[in-house]
Formats: sequence, structure tokens, C-alpha cells
Amino acid sequence: MECVTLVMNGSNNRERTRHMRPVTPIIDRLMSKVITSPDGCWEWQGARRGSMGYSTLGNEPGKLPRNIYGHIVSYEFHKGLIPSGMVVQHSCDNPVCVNPDHLSLGTYQSNKDDCVEKMRHNKGVKQHKARLNDEIVRSIRKDAGNGEEGKSIAARLGVSDQTVYDVINGKTWKHVI
Ligand SMILES: [Zn+2]
Repeated sequence: MECVTLVMNGSNNRERTRHMRPVTPIIDRLMSKVITSPDGCWEWQGARRGSMGYSTLGNEPGKLPRNIYGHIVSYEFHKGLIPSGMVVQHSCDNPVCVNPDHLSLGTYQSNKDDCVEKMRHNKGVKQHKARLNDEIVRSIRKDAGNGEEGKSIAARLGVSDQTVYDVINGKTWKHVI
């Protein structure tokens, strides 16, 4: 009997707690951490997840997935449910933006193409503009000519071995003599 009483007390307590602390709707939790940028983006200031750094917040109790992207919450609240097989894309390229005016539906493939295109662009800038320049390329070839190993040059410059070998072998930076 005692045992039953205990269980009942436990569930009563839980019931009371639920009434005392109403759950804040997810859209309110989202908007409470948003600031508007000069570009008109609604930028989420909370947690970010995934390789793209999307805004992420806890889903409503009992709903899956347990964590959900902010732009998904915003899209569904302002524009309606996302049909299966479709993804929400940012026209502003700002992964933390949840402004419904900057969100549109696309297919998974179109989003992927978009990402690949941007990553390729970023990579190009990083490798050829930020890391190496004509002067460094000449010094790599000179040091290699003096007998320094490609690996050692790569370590000294903080670039990959392959990058250095490609420069030495003239696969990249052909225009630099
Ligand atoms: Zn935006």
C-alpha cells in the first residue's frame, strides 16, 4: 500500500510542476534570441550545429527530432509545413538567419549543388590567395632545388604536403617562373 501511495504522490507532483511552469511555444523561444542585422536577416544568437552552423534549438516536448533548426521552425510557423522531400534554403546564405522572407523551399539536390558551389569557391580563395602567392611559390621551388624535402617545406609553411609537391612539380602555379 505504501508503495502505491508513493507512486501516486510522485505523479501528482509532476502534474503540479507541469501546471506551474507552462511550456514556452517554440516560436517564442526562437524569436527571443534573434536580432535583426543591417541586411534584414533575423540572426539567431543561440546554439549552432552541423557543418553549416545552422541555428539549433530544442524541439517541443515529446516531438522529434529533439533538436530542430531555427529556419525550419520559422518556415513552418510563417509559411506552412514543409512537404516531404523538400528542404528549406536561405536566399541570404546566412545559416543563422530565420527571416521567413529569406527562406524558400528547394529540393535536396539544389541545396547540395548550391553548397558545393560555395565550398569550391571558398576553397579556391583559401588555397590560392590566402595561403600561397607568387613569392612563396618561388621560395618553395628554390628550397626544393637546394635539396630541402617537400614535407619539411610543407610543415614550415603550414600547408599540406600535396600542395608543396604540386608546386614543385609544376602541377599548380604554372604561371609563376
Ligand atoms: Zn537572411
